[in-house]
Amino acid sequence: MKILLASSNTHKKREILALLDGLGIEILTLKDLGYTQEIPEDGDTFLENSAIKAHWAYRATGLPTLADDSGISIRAMGYEPGIRSARFLSPEAGSGEKNREILRRLEGEQERQAHYTCALTFLDKDRSFITEQYCHGLISQGESGVEGFGYDPIFLLPELGKTMAELDPEEKNRLSHRGKALAAFREYLETTYGIV
Ligand code: IMP
Repeated sequence: MKILLASSNTHKKREILALLDGLGIEILTLKDLGYTQEIPEDGDTFLENSAIKAHWAYRATGLPTLADDSGISIRAMGYEPGIRSARFLSPEAGSGEKNREILRRLEGEQERQAHYTCALTFLDKDRSFITEQYCHGLISQGESGVEGFGYDPIFLLPELGKTMAELDPEEKNRLSHRGKALAAFREYLETTYGIV
């Protein structure tokens, strides 16, 4: 089976490929098929954005398509940046800049709860699957760790006393919003397509 992955973020793509590894599925990307344009992402929720991306790519290619949308929501910031996580401050701002700005805004703040969300939409000819999964944690007091990407150096998992960027990739995949969403998708492939 071939699945088109409608994602342009290299880090996310690497995590998704690792999580679907061993299923004997051939994963193609839009770039592999020669599509270079940005897919519009103008929904109001993570699920809506993942569905918009999946519809766009499915209509363009006719291939079974998986799309995701994800981000971080911070309680003391009114659950921002949320669906705007990639564009927080500006699309050009680097992760370090974004993280330091969040730490600055939360200086002296006791309320540090945050969660990651990952929404997945899978579309095939007469089937579809959606899931939304979360990973809960706290915004740390400083940046720590070099693994992962994006907001991981400031996302603390209190039960481990480590930030997401201090976990090795396998550990992150076991706990993360994306790991949980892909586990649900693997189960769907197993029960619906008999892929194990
Ligand atoms: P998307 O491509 O619109 O889904 O953008 C998601 C954005 O959310 C990324 O660019 C990151 O800034 C952030 N994000 C999502 N998942 C993670 C993660 O696992 N670690 C760190 N940042 C993440």
